[in-house]
Amino acid sequence: MSQPTPVQGWSELLLAPPEFILIDAYIDENDELVANVELPRDVQPCTGCGVIGLHPLHDWRRHTVRHLPVAGRATRLVWRKRLLACLEGCGTFVERTPSIAPGAVWSRAAARAAVAASQANIPIDTTRKSFGVGWNTVMRAVIAAADLVAQLRPTRVGIDETVMTTGRLTQRRRQFLTALVCLDTSLVVAVAQGRDKGSAAALLADHAPDAKVVACDLFSGFKSAADTLEDAIVVADVFHLVSLGLTALDEVRRRRQQQIHGHRGHRDDPLFRLRRVLRVGQERLGEDEVAKIFDRLRDADTDDEVAAAWVAVDLLRRVYQAPDRDTAHRRLVTFYEWLVAVDVPEVTRLATTIGPWQDEVLAFFDTRASNAPTESANVKIKSIRRAARGFRNCTNYAARIRLHAGQPRSLPTTTRIRPYSAAAAAYR
Ligand SMILES: [Zn+2]
Repeated sequence: MSQPTPVQGWSELLLAPPEFILIDAYIDENDELVANVELPRDVQPCTGCGVIGLHPLHDWRRHTVRHLPVAGRATRLVWRKRLLACLEGCGTFVERTPSIAPGAVWSRAAARAAVAASQANIPIDTTRKSFGVGWNTVMRAVIAAADLVAQLRPTRVGIDETVMTTGRLTQRRRQFLTALVCLDTSLVVAVAQGRDKGSAAALLADHAPDAKVVACDLFSGFKSAADTLEDAIVVADVFHLVSLGLTALDEVRRRRQQQIHGHRGHRDDPLFRLRRVLRVGQERLGEDEVAKIFDRLRDADTDDEVAAAWVAVDLLRRVYQAPDRDTAHRRLVTFYEWLVAVDVPEVTRLATTIGPWQDEVLAFFDTRASNAPTESANVKIKSIRRAARGFRNCTNYAARIRLHAGQPRSLPTTTRIRPYSAAAAAYR
């Protein structure tokens, strides 16, 4: 067993900056811990000429800072600072130490704890209250820490958009963020304001110039942005394609509902009752269930338009289940042939949407890249916005995103003080 390290003094035990000497401490009328501390008399570099030496004491100054809470109690340090007169006679200066920046309102340890809180998606407002410092103080520390987050150089990226400000209609427009996500790690590489070709192209050029794969939804702006990269393959995302198919299916169902009943779907209308089960992939239903649904569809819509759209969505799903590119290509042709054969307007429109994306759709089978990591990163981005109750400042939002979603989680682990009991072990 290794020897335990002895603790040097009170200051080290309770009040993190270990270089300080604790003079005394008391609890004030606000139930806060106040610690009077000073540095040991030691050599200091002169701030004027840089000469390191035991400069003579000229006077004392007082510097009060917020520090980490001690045993749950808000703590401030009152640092009795020496004002030193330079040995070389170039004037006076105050002592310095790495733990507390000159003129700071809180210790570096407190600022680090606030940054860790932001990394865990705790709002700035909560943190500033718990430390008794200003909102801007916390945000400055967060922005400084976000600048230090290591830049990723991803080779497989996804692009997607998220809403930044919803705003009221008359006062603010909806504003969007475009996020660039590394598909291998699900980490956010960078974000930019706007959701157009320009912002996406700038993101790619600045942060992923050597990307080989770019996955995006069926938005032509992202595609033309990705085309600005020389040797990147653009992949259209699976989820968005099937989702477009389901939207078309819903449109057919609602149109037929109106044509047959003259009103929107009511609880007992057969088409309305089918609305949820139609969204389930046929591969997840049994043969009998599929047959039963077709029977119900035929009874509900004698023109079979909804049934035709349901088959179309199923054919679309099958394209993505194909084991290789050639099979997928064949299934895509089958899908088109079905659209021509049944001639349902909403579904035909779907074909004109998907048509220009054929290469990108099939590129999925060469790369197996999907936008799933991008959507996962998007959930994190949205949770930051929710925790903060919205953002008006894109720079602040971007800094919070980089801290929370732009780097792997690095929570310090602590040794367990009790072993897993036999009962707990039984559950594992
Ligand atoms: Zn000097």
